[in-house]
Amino acid sequence: MGAHDPFTATAEVGHFIQGAPVASRSGRRQAVYNPATGAVARQVALGSLEDVNAAVAAAQAAFDGWAQTPPIRRGRVMFKFLELMNLHRDTLAAMITAEHGKVFTDAQGEVSRGIDIVEFACGIPQLLKGDFTDQVSTGIDNWTLRQPLGVVAGITPFNFPCMVPCWMFPVAIAAGNSFILKPSERDPSASLFMAELLKQAGLPDGVFNVVQGDKLVVDALLTHPDVKAVSFVGSTPIAQYIYETGAHHGKRVQALGGAKNHMVVMPDADLDQAVDALIGAGYGSAGERCMAISVAVVVGDIADRLVDAVAARAKTLKVKNGMELDAEMGPIVTAQALERISGYIDVGVQEGAKLVVDGRGLRVPGHDGGFWIGGTLFDHVTPQMRIYREEIFGPVLAVVRVPDFAAALALVNAHEFGNGVACFTSDGNVAREFARRVQVGMVGINVPIPVPMAWHGFGGWKKSLFGDMHAYGEEGVRFYTKQKSVMQRWPSSIGRGAEFVMPTAK
Ligand code: NAD
Repeated sequence: MGAHDPFTATAEVGHFIQGAPVASRSGRRQAVYNPATGAVARQVALGSLEDVNAAVAAAQAAFDGWAQTPPIRRGRVMFKFLELMNLHRDTLAAMITAEHGKVFTDAQGEVSRGIDIVEFACGIPQLLKGDFTDQVSTGIDNWTLRQPLGVVAGITPFNFPCMVPCWMFPVAIAAGNSFILKPSERDPSASLFMAELLKQAGLPDGVFNVVQGDKLVVDALLTHPDVKAVSFVGSTPIAQYIYETGAHHGKRVQALGGAKNHMVVMPDADLDQAVDALIGAGYGSAGERCMAISVAVVVGDIADRLVDAVAARAKTLKVKNGMELDAEMGPIVTAQALERISGYIDVGVQEGAKLVVDGRGLRVPGHDGGFWIGGTLFDHVTPQMRIYREEIFGPVLAVVRVPDFAAALALVNAHEFGNGVACFTSDGNVAREFARRVQVGMVGINVPIPVPMAWHGFGGWKKSLFGDMHAYGEEGVRFYTKQKSVMQRWPSSIGRGAEFVMPTAK
């Protein structure tokens, strides 16, 4: 698995440039924790300007050869990578659990959803097929084709260290670009492992590079003249900064931001299904998902029954080391994140919300140093409260009670985020109206976490996405390519004499 041993506190997770692991040159490093124990698991190199310049130079040098490689051959590298990802699925999942904390089965699910995009990218010859019009004028044809951009960069968050990079690089690379990944510094190992697998799959050196690091690396990528496009996924303030800075430097940018996802529960919903959905989507991955449900909007008179049922389940959640196979929820990613989440629970209490289940102070036997919190439930939350307005990004579910469907819809639509949303109902017309009128990018009808499949594309609305194109799917292919139109005629079909008027069909 390359130069780093992932299991010692001093081992370094470095960069991957020009097809080889590269150790830290700057000497800047940061600890990576095992959140279940609180112990330092390893160190991640924090890249320098020199590292970014080396990666961009490698990617730029590799670009032309890769762009000229027929799409079907690029697709074959993806097929080989797909095979290797499937083979090493559990190794990757264990790596994710060890650094992120999410339970192993959930990490396996993450890897599978990443693999879905690799499968999609295998079909790149079909995806790049252009349009052709025969005889736009006598003896003249016109067609459009899509060509890669050049060196493109991806900057990714901690919460999906395998899946979110896979939203980007398989499509970008299959389309003929070369790629630089700047993973989250909290859980950097999966990125290096995938870099090794791409190399084993036969990807030419320099087409995929990893530069670990922080703001310094991000800023260097955002301003480098040879980086043509930037994909970002992370929190909203940083997404907005990436979008503005990248655009200012002439780059194409898609920047996916934070979320506050609502689940509307209508009085006619199947209560048991709704409770299961809230438990899984609210507390799964400790709420550290951009599609997690953090607000239950309960319509009418089912609120008391629903809150009682969710509370009973939240209190008995199996919160433990994610490597234990019966774990339902693991630890929080870092001590700072745990402090932020606990702080929000304090705020909710001060604001007057009713704290029904309090996850603070949870202890997990044998794991005293871990970053633990239990599932938390607030009732009687109002739209003015900070715990309603702001993204907490932890296992904290807020219940807002509303009288009817119109009030539920208005509440969702007034929120500044618009990533995901769900509506639980057994009324088809309510479902249909909800899906049509809601101002949110990804909608689930009786589906709590409606993450679109690989060929549909992922993206929120409002402050959850800055830019025009969603991630992966056909929008992803469009993002990573530019359209060219070619108009052609041949000498034997050309009439004689200069034309001074705008050409029209003849
Ligand atoms: P983050 O914004 O802190 O970090 C994301 C990336 O940006 C990391 O690679 C980080 O190193 C870099 N970064 C952080 N601060 C920076 C700065 N000041 N300047 C330049 N770069 C900086 O996000 P996170 O905590 O890693 O991830 C959680 C957030 O991501 C949540 O807000 C979540 O909703 C969001 N998220 C959104 C989606 C989506 O699809 N919309 C998906 C996953 C996560």
